[in-house]
Amino acid sequence: MLKAERYRHFVEYFSKQQPNPVTELHYNNPFQLLIAVILSAQCTDKRINQVTPALFERFPAPEDLAASSPEEVFTYIRSVSYPNNKAKHLVGMGKMLVEVFNSQVPSDIDDLQKMPGVGRKTANVIASVVFDAPAIAVDTHVFRVSNRIGLTTNARTPLAVEQQLTEYLPQDILGVAHHWLILHGRYICVARSPKCEICPLTWFCKYYERNNTEAALLRAEAAKIKKAKEAKKKKALNTISKELKKRSVDKDI
Ligand code: SF4
Repeated sequence: MLKAERYRHFVEYFSKQQPNPVTELHYNNPFQLLIAVILSAQCTDKRINQVTPALFERFPAPEDLAASSPEEVFTYIRSVSYPNNKAKHLVGMGKMLVEVFNSQVPSDIDDLQKMPGVGRKTANVIASVVFDAPAIAVDTHVFRVSNRIGLTTNARTPLAVEQQLTEYLPQDILGVAHHWLILHGRYICVARSPKCEICPLTWFCKYYERNNTEAALLRAEAAKIKKAKEAKKKKALNTISKELKKRSVDKDI
């Protein structure tokens, strides 16, 4: 199947099934989303949603974060991953918003990346979710699922995945495609054992095709037969060894 066809099937399927996907992070304004996305690195959205209500209440504006200390912020986020670093990042981010960006979250991806704790992925999420920019953030789910389906080829870095997705996907759906891939990766195409048996994308997924061709099935069958033969041989040897032991005992008696 040609790559362009895979993209067409991917877009058609998700446009029908999930026309308006949204982030699972809870927030009420761009500043809160920025905080939540910074915190979500290497952590689950569920965990972040547990800590942000108290955090947002204590730090409703960039000025509040800027005037705080990493030690204080830490007490609100101690249960997320890398709380020490993230506390420092949040205070630094608050300061930069106040001092450089007039307390407004910038829309430019380069400006966003100047802030502590904001890498390309976070910047793309903010640009696309808040400002409707044609950007796609590549996290671990987007990276894995794109490769498995075959939307990307030999893309070894998040930037390479971003570039290939941007090349093939229409600009106006880059933002929603990010959510499609994340949600699919979180609930079906999970990292260790993708749930292909319940996945509706098998008919155009490259990973599925590779692992379910006739040759792959024959290989699996041959391995099963070999294992069964080895088990039978082991059992026969055990029986012989037990019999020999028994005879030697009988002889001694
Ligand atoms: S068929 Fe399997 S590998 Fe392909 S997208 Fe679905 S779950 Fe992932």
